[in-house]
Amino acid sequence: MEETFKNLSRLRKDERIRRLVQQTTLSRDDLIMPLFIHHGENVKHPITAMEGQYQWSVDQVTGFARELVGRDVRAVLLFGIPAVKDPLGACALDDDDGVIQRALRALKQATPELVLITDLCFCEYTDHGHCGVLVEREGRRVLDHAATRERLVLQALSHARAGTDMIAPSGMIDGQVSAIRQGLDANGFGHIPIMAYTAKYASSFYGPFREAAGGAPSFGDRRSHQLDPANSDEALREAEADIAEGADILMVKPAGYYGDIIRRLRDCFNLPIAAYQVSGEYAMIKAAAARGRLDEAVVIRETLLSIKRAGADLIITYFAGDEILFD
Ligand SMILES: [Zn+2]
Repeated sequence: MEETFKNLSRLRKDERIRRLVQQTTLSRDDLIMPLFIHHGENVKHPITAMEGQYQWSVDQVTGFARELVGRDVRAVLLFGIPAVKDPLGACALDDDDGVIQRALRALKQATPELVLITDLCFCEYTDHGHCGVLVEREGRRVLDHAATRERLVLQALSHARAGTDMIAPSGMIDGQVSAIRQGLDANGFGHIPIMAYTAKYASSFYGPFREAAGGAPSFGDRRSHQLDPANSDEALREAEADIAEGADILMVKPAGYYGDIIRRLRDCFNLPIAAYQVSGEYAMIKAAAARGRLDEAVVIRETLLSIKRAGADLIITYFAGDEILFD
């Protein structure tokens, strides 16, 4: 008698065959570990909202970076927490004493194997917590995109002089990618790639990061320049603009609930796609695992696989250095 149904489970019943037909694989080669660099010395502050994550001073982070290399982590993304903040975020431009500039030099020495990627924005350095220069317009303080672009170029050049391997401008400032590209090219840093925060959504999943990096806006929010979670077409428009401006890698942030955006970019554009599994995605898994509700190691792998399956080539994740990830 002719078969009336397909036996699709034939390829699933045996672990050896399952491995043969597995489409998506995880490797530390594709993971990027975010690190929070704190001013001062001898600092290893636990981040309460992100169990297992720390703020590190430069002298402490090098030891941890060596541990990461020992676990085959290939890349880190650096965020700075300076001692002083002011309206313009001046210390973000400090070649000698800037917290990121010092970290770059120390990590280049301690862990030359690591790809050092630097977050480029001003919200961690300004006293108002916004991503750049503010101006008064019609009685409101708003971001001045043109003035901010000029300062982003200066920050990028300072990171370049300190040895960054890649610049990741995170502020969603109009025209930031082309301004930074031109600035780098004109100053002998044409070899430094730009990972553009192409589709950065105005997400509540960034909550725990505010404690980690101390960059909460003192008034208002970032909805005027980050994408509306209700929209997906505008992510394509952002991607078109970033590519035209010279981006080398496109990023989607957050990752887990934005698989559709990752897939749309993957299908429409031929550039590497990065996805950022953000602090809130991390904290939810940690909280559920601590209560015994989820099997942490299995869930971490499942979330990362789903992000890759959606089409991401690279994943920025706080789990990148986790020992349990590849047990
Ligand atoms: Zn910012």
